[in-house]
Amino acid sequence: MTKQFAVIGNPIEQSRSPELHHAFAAKTGVDLNYKKILAPLDGFETTTKTFFSQGGIGMNVTVPFKEQAFTLCDQLTERAKIAKAVNTLWMQDGTLYGDNTDGQGLVAAIQALGWNLENSRILILGAGGATRGVIYPLVQAGAKKIVIANRTLARAEQLVNDLKDAVVQAELSAIGLEQLSGEFDLAINATSASLTGDALQLPENLIFHHAYEMAYGKPSSFLDQAQARQVPSTDGFGMLVGQAIEAFYIWNAVKPELKDFL
Ligand code: NDP
Repeated sequence: MTKQFAVIGNPIEQSRSPELHHAFAAKTGVDLNYKKILAPLDGFETTTKTFFSQGGIGMNVTVPFKEQAFTLCDQLTERAKIAKAVNTLWMQDGTLYGDNTDGQGLVAAIQALGWNLENSRILILGAGGATRGVIYPLVQAGAKKIVIANRTLARAEQLVNDLKDAVVQAELSAIGLEQLSGEFDLAINATSASLTGDALQLPENLIFHHAYEMAYGKPSSFLDQAQARQVPSTDGFGMLVGQAIEAFYIWNAVKPELKDFL
């Protein structure tokens, strides 16, 4: 029987998840259908419950419902608990499970580029949901120092406070965007500035050797500045594929190869 999957969000038209999951299915021989569901802003829970009551197997969750998905689950993986956000749901024997595969998706994409994370010093711009989801997987992959720089300093400080006990192997700290300086192996743009078309100004005394922009398909002043400095750089498409592969693996117990879909 064809297995039913979906991605839920609002808006949802832009999502590339159906095309990715159908490509994984074609490659691995899994019989599935994966659709987009637009949920009303106040209708996430009802729409999700209807999907699973009609035999849905698994669901991806995107903006703005990842925190609500976290509160809806009966069981959570360790990384979802730490992220306090869920992007992958599945139902098993009446229990709703939740995971967060965004961080592992980012780690897999960085490793596929051959960029080293072992003992790395990482700067993350932004302190929203995406940053929260990637810190634990980055530390598990070997990051030793992570500085979170945010326009609203208090939000970065809160994030560091929430996460520091979960990632004791690494040094975590928070700064304001105007305090940017120092040297990093990798700078990650996890602000939504590229989505709104806003420019991020990186000072000359900030040095970084690789640059990862989480957004994709949009002009990015962060990537422009990395390219002007001749630093290896990429947009977030690999992360998107990586998180989708992790979800596919949870649901279907087969793991497509990232390099086949980049
Ligand atoms: P949130 O809305 O949770 O957080 C947005 C962050 O961006 C905040 O830290 C905010 O700062 C900062 N910000 C917004 N506008 C500006 C600006 N003009 N200048 C400086 N800082 C700004 O978003 P998410 O964390 O969910 O997503 C962040 C990015 O990551 C988005 O581009 C999203 O598309 C991308 N993403 C990509 C994924 C992928 O698979 N490739 C997966 C998940 C996310 P403040 O706190 O001060 O408001």
